[in-house]
Amino acid sequence: MQAAIYPGSFDPITNGHLDVVRRALSLVNRVVVGVIYNPEKNPLFSLEERMDLIRTLFKDEPRVEVASFSGLLIDFARLQNVYTIIRGLRAVSDFDYEFQMAITNRHLCPKLDTVFLMTDVDYSYLSSSLVKQVARFGGDVSSFVPMEIELKLKEKLGL
Ligand code: ADP
Repeated sequence: MQAAIYPGSFDPITNGHLDVVRRALSLVNRVVVGVIYNPEKNPLFSLEERMDLIRTLFKDEPRVEVASFSGLLIDFARLQNVYTIIRGLRAVSDFDYEFQMAITNRHLCPKLDTVFLMTDVDYSYLSSSLVKQVARFGGDVSSFVPMEIELKLKEKLGL
């Protein structure tokens, strides 16, 4: 496989997401991290901030590209001319939703395939929402996110 798209909100990117990108890079030559622009989700970090943070973390990895999209994933896939989608699976609870999305996307665009990667068990409980919740109350998030993200979280939350 040449390339794959890893779509998500990444608000902010966590060690779990990073683990998935690293695993994907051992399967494909290029990973396009597709950051979703969805103002209705009311993200903590703006689209530009989320993209900049990801770019900073992968500044030494030319095989990772960061792009944004809104609307349908299949339209972004067509634009990129990349039809392999990477999604991470943490627990069985992720499966129902991911299954539904993958089948819907395949229905809308038959050449699209979704590849699920299981994260390291260390990150299997980790989500961006959990990280934000812990950070908001002044908890230590250093084992959940890289230092750059930890600093940005503190700055954003005025801690
Ligand atoms: P979305 O809003 O699309 O779920 P997220 O940024 O929350 O976006 O997640 C993007 C992808 O990364 C999803 O496939 C999600 O299941 C996966 N993911 C999130 N956290 C982890 C983690 N800790 N380990 C593995 N995969 C994860």
